[in-house]
Amino acid sequence: MDPDDLSHILNHLGEDRAAGFNAVVPPVVQSGNFAYPTVAAMRAVVQQEFDRPLYTRGHNPTVAMVRRKLAALEHAEDALLFSSGSAAIAAAVVAFTGAGDHVVCVHKPYSWTRKLLGELLVRFGVETTFVDGTDAENYRRASRPNTRMFITESPNSLTFELQDLAAVAAIARAKGIVTLCDNSYSSPLFQNPIDLGIDLVAHSGTKYLNGHSDVVCGVLAGSAAHMRQVMAREFMTLGAVPGPHDAWLLMRGLRTLELRVGRSADSAERVARFLEAHPRVRKVHWPGLESHPQHALARRQMRRCAGLMTIDLDAPDEAAVERFCDHLRRFLIAVSWGGHESLQWPVCALKGPSGYYTELPFTLVRLYIGLEDPAVLIADLENALARM
Ligand SMILES: *Cc1c(COP(=O)(O)O)cnc(C)c1O
Repeated sequence: MDPDDLSHILNHLGEDRAAGFNAVVPPVVQSGNFAYPTVAAMRAVVQQEFDRPLYTRGHNPTVAMVRRKLAALEHAEDALLFSSGSAAIAAAVVAFTGAGDHVVCVHKPYSWTRKLLGELLVRFGVETTFVDGTDAENYRRASRPNTRMFITESPNSLTFELQDLAAVAAIARAKGIVTLCDNSYSSPLFQNPIDLGIDLVAHSGTKYLNGHSDVVCGVLAGSAAHMRQVMAREFMTLGAVPGPHDAWLLMRGLRTLELRVGRSADSAERVARFLEAHPRVRKVHWPGLESHPQHALARRQMRRCAGLMTIDLDAPDEAAVERFCDHLRRFLIAVSWGGHESLQWPVCALKGPSGYYTELPFTLVRLYIGLEDPAVLIADLENALARM
């Protein structure tokens, strides 16, 4: 993206200072409801309830301001802001499928995306086939006459497998199938699926977009027609709307998006190279490394690779993995990612009743590289590896 455009989006787009006392930081419109002086004035607003303030579920000025920035960041005509990334993905799938329809999704997507497709929507007659997305042709092979959606998450969670988004989009387009990409990993800075022909882009705004680990929110971006359709049905009826204050915090996070994500990616590259060279690390799953099997595709469709990676430890048993994790001082043991703080997420701590992670080896630990000094993070990893 043109740096001038990016600075404009992050710092100015959608903001009307004159309407907010000329405050440098736009005031948060913390109101659920809006009143009008006459019946005629209200009637006019009701005609445009998604574009003018009537009731905050449909339109809120603070939310609207952030939506404009998010749409521009993803090269989309419009974007909706949800109360979580999962809500955005669920609304999108419900919007474009119905009983008797079929979906093709990359295997090992984000866990709650898998739950949505593999369990919840099955109850409503929507069937999903999960495919190895490293070969785009698998989407074609799995599709049927009733296939309505292709769902991608590139790279996908934990294993960092890529899908060739342009190839998947081309297969879908020829068949009239709607495509969705969960772009949370890359953020709009490093990958823009719409430019590759994908119809809908979803984000967990909780991660890089907000970036301060203090808000859970989600984004869906796409054409004006698609967004209007989702707004008028799934957004308004399922009602997973963001609060104005959360939208305002997200705007605060976006101010530093470029600095934060750039720093996280720079540090991730140093950490990944250090770990790849370490004898106690069997493999580093990070698309930015030349050793990644899809490195060439990563270079083609992504501008850079972000600060999340999974390492496969040369550990004899779970106790050794736990020793490594417990000795890390600079990586909080936690889920989620995308904030200022570095995190670790050992697969061996995740094997719960859902059974989802039981298929993954216990030697995997996902690392999120935050904004700390990378030399400090590397020293911490070196120390923990020595004590494993
Ligand atoms: C966190 C995450 C989600 C879900 O987003 P929430 O905001 O937690 O609902 C979806 N996809 C990916 C890749 C994620 O990391």
